[in-house]
Amino acid sequence: EIKDQKFVYDFTEGNKDLKDLLGGKGANLAEMTNLGLPVPPGFTITTEACKVYLDSGEEPAALRDEVSAHLDALEQRMGKKLGQSEDPLLVSVRSGAKFSMPGMMDTVLNIGLSDTSVEGLARQAGDERFAWDSYRRLIQMFGKTVLGVEGELFEDALDAAKEAKKVTVDTDLDAADLKKLVKQFKKIVKSETGRDFPQDPREQMDLAIKAVFDSWNGDRAKLYRRQERIPHDLGTAVNVCSMVFGNLGPDSGTGVAFTRDPASGHQGVYGDYLQNAQGEDVVAGIRNTVPLADLESIDKKSYDQLMQIMETLETHYKDLCDIEFTIERGRLWMLQTRVGKRTAGAAFRIATQLVDQGLIDEAEALQRVTGAQLAQLMFPRFDETARVEKLGRGIAASPGAAVGKAVFDSYTAVKWSRSGEKVILIRRETNPDDLDGMIAAEGILTSRGGKTSHAAVVARGMGKTCVCGAEELEVDTKRRRMTVNGTVVEEGDVVSIDGSTGKVYLGEVPVVPSPVVEYFEGRMHAGADDADELVQAVHRIMAYADRVRRLRVRANADNAEDALRARRFGAQGIGLCRTEHMFLGERREMVEKLILADTDDEREDALKALLPLQKKDFVELFEAMDGLPVTVRLLDPPLHEFLPDITELSVRVALAEARKDANENDLRLLQAVHRLHEQNPMLGLRGVRLGLVIPGLFTMQVRAIAEAAAERRNAKGDPRAEIMIPLVGTVQELEIVREEAEQVIAEVEAATGVDLRLALGTMIELPRAALTAGQIAEAAEFFSFGTNDLTQTVWGFSRDDVEASFFTAYLEKGIFGVSPFETIDKDGVGSLVRNAVAAGRATRPDLKLGVCGEHGGDPESVHFFHEVGLDYVSCSPFRIPVARLEAGRAAA
Ligand code: ADP
Ligand code: MG
Ligand code: MG
Repeated sequence: EIKDQKFVYDFTEGNKDLKDLLGGKGANLAEMTNLGLPVPPGFTITTEACKVYLDSGEEPAALRDEVSAHLDALEQRMGKKLGQSEDPLLVSVRSGAKFSMPGMMDTVLNIGLSDTSVEGLARQAGDERFAWDSYRRLIQMFGKTVLGVEGELFEDALDAAKEAKKVTVDTDLDAADLKKLVKQFKKIVKSETGRDFPQDPREQMDLAIKAVFDSWNGDRAKLYRRQERIPHDLGTAVNVCSMVFGNLGPDSGTGVAFTRDPASGHQGVYGDYLQNAQGEDVVAGIRNTVPLADLESIDKKSYDQLMQIMETLETHYKDLCDIEFTIERGRLWMLQTRVGKRTAGAAFRIATQLVDQGLIDEAEALQRVTGAQLAQLMFPRFDETARVEKLGRGIAASPGAAVGKAVFDSYTAVKWSRSGEKVILIRRETNPDDLDGMIAAEGILTSRGGKTSHAAVVARGMGKTCVCGAEELEVDTKRRRMTVNGTVVEEGDVVSIDGSTGKVYLGEVPVVPSPVVEYFEGRMHAGADDADELVQAVHRIMAYADRVRRLRVRANADNAEDALRARRFGAQGIGLCRTEHMFLGERREMVEKLILADTDDEREDALKALLPLQKKDFVELFEAMDGLPVTVRLLDPPLHEFLPDITELSVRVALAEARKDANENDLRLLQAVHRLHEQNPMLGLRGVRLGLVIPGLFTMQVRAIAEAAAERRNAKGDPRAEIMIPLVGTVQELEIVREEAEQVIAEVEAATGVDLRLALGTMIELPRAALTAGQIAEAAEFFSFGTNDLTQTVWGFSRDDVEASFFTAYLEKGIFGVSPFETIDKDGVGSLVRNAVAAGRATRPDLKLGVCGEHGGDPESVHFFHEVGLDYVSCSPFRIPVARLEAGRAAA
């Protein structure tokens, strides 16, 4: 603990930039105070004080005196003393962390009321009912959050009081009823905790402050932080704020408002108001609120002032704000403001609206949206106008809109999907045994678990729609059904799940394509009559991003169709064209011949047969990407992947042998399968190693690329092929392949008379390659970081196996915040990349540097690649807009 550290700040001392220290609520209360807005006076205890308390179990020694000094000052200013019997000062003790954690932590209102001061308050206000209503609220909130009494006990007693009087709302209880209720509440406290409700106001305040500190480590708060990836060591601030009363009769009330519509961004009057109510009554929904616009006729003066204040706040924060306010007998008070949450679509609209209003510039507009929001806007969505029964709601774990028949086990999911049915796999929670079912399903729905549950992690990895933790669902796997609030859903009933909102529907909700994708596809033009505001906003933001970004964005695409789509989405080339698919389908037979070849002639024949087919693929691809670079990766996967499955083939051969008609080819195949079988294919005969041990394989591919390029050039095209060697670990490997390739290229150039200028480079995807990048750059004109394999080899785990097995546990234990396959591990893998970039450029200053693999389209990773100075990222066509946007955000 630092000496002279200041633990308490008056609202007049802080400002909005002190969120780390004062929490969001405290920093913004201070900011509003400084803006001269009507904020009830008060002070904030810092997150530092909370941290000391959480670390040591005790409040910092200086805190008590500092709080006393600030309380004295507050009492002086208000002309009242905390809890004094004649005219008590009352305060609220409110939690407020750096990041808003809605409903997760505690606030206690009306601190300072006691058996004596409640009488004083009644006399002062001239309203007995109000005083006793405030007192019962205090005991209820204090009992629940500070003393840990089950909240339902109070609620039940309140309900019983209403029932006894045959009324339905709390405002119909009079002073006498509330007095009785207070007695009952105090009894509950006594019997539940063994102690009386504390009558000393300062003791109330101190206990409440401690309770707020403690609420930081409540189960709910911890879970929420884990899900939202909020660090656990930030602590919460505590705000002590003098009370203003919305429960003083019909000329009082409380409300919430947004400075513009958080769903559309439109300017207007958005919010709810509740007369004669305090604090949380509005959100708790205990009585019906009225739309904020109605306040104009209830209390025009306050309404006008509120509108004025909202404009002040928007101009000041230059963003959508949400606020809490209270009106006490016709006088308006501001109790909270913050930059408000908004939907993905509204984020884009608001950013451009604010540019048009001159409040922010284009660079700032880019910071107001995220790639994740753009990705959300690109998923197909449910038609919101459709009339379908909503079943419940869970956690939006992996976006998308999925419709299918309910199945309750993986076996059925697989069986039904094989027969062409679309299914939604519904489980209480999933485990690694469910993997097949999850793959087969359109979407996954669970009743338990959060954003880091097995279902959520695996679904996100597969890009599959998932809603998890829908607690209203009672899943009965044995009887193959679930019950949701009385509705029974049987196996085979159609359900729809929305992974972007967490909503679950009974029946089929029609799916409509995303207008944003329609726009990227060129089927909808921004500026055209039918283009809606959203598309216009996306169009403008993308233009800002493209203008400022330094990183180029390429696509991972293997065929002309994907390449063309990628081009429409803004790809500036292909960063990874995998050639393995060119060996599948009907070409499999030729590959088998190649593998089974006993003599050089046989092998050459097999390669000769493959050559024209490969060439044709490349011609199409270069034509689709005319004028843009296309990086073709030579064959990477182990050869046995092109051969039949070992078990299936063994059975076939065994059966045939039993019938005594085993076929010669099958026997040879089986031998080859055995010969090529590897325990660890990921680390086996693949990549450059194939090229080195199978004579003619890589040179055939190089020839196909070179001839295709020559053909395109002769057709007046502009092919820009780059040849990439995978899985290189040492420069010697590359040098051998390079020499052979150059010879082939020279032959093709001589034969066609075309100067091909083909670039030769390598993937950096093994730790050794990264560590010796300086040497490798001698033989490589470009590097493409293969961060998938690099992550596997640096961590020593196989992505195909671990995501479903122990990643959930790792995420839950906080070992990862996010899977290193999703977001690049900056400290480990990233540091290899950083060093390889430096070493490579030291050898060859004009070395071209890129990345291919999943990370190329991941927002956080894109920022990292920008920062380490790569020239481009390459990602799947669908992620290109996200990568463009994030590259722009990184540069802005
Ligand atoms: P949360 O973070 O859950 O919104 P708050 O600290 O904002 O919790 O308080 C809960 C409710 O009590 C809010 O509606 C707030 O406006 C109200 N409230 C808090 N402090 C005061 C006060 N001093 N006077 C009147 N109402 C208050
Ligand atoms: Mg609040
Ligand atoms: Mg690889």
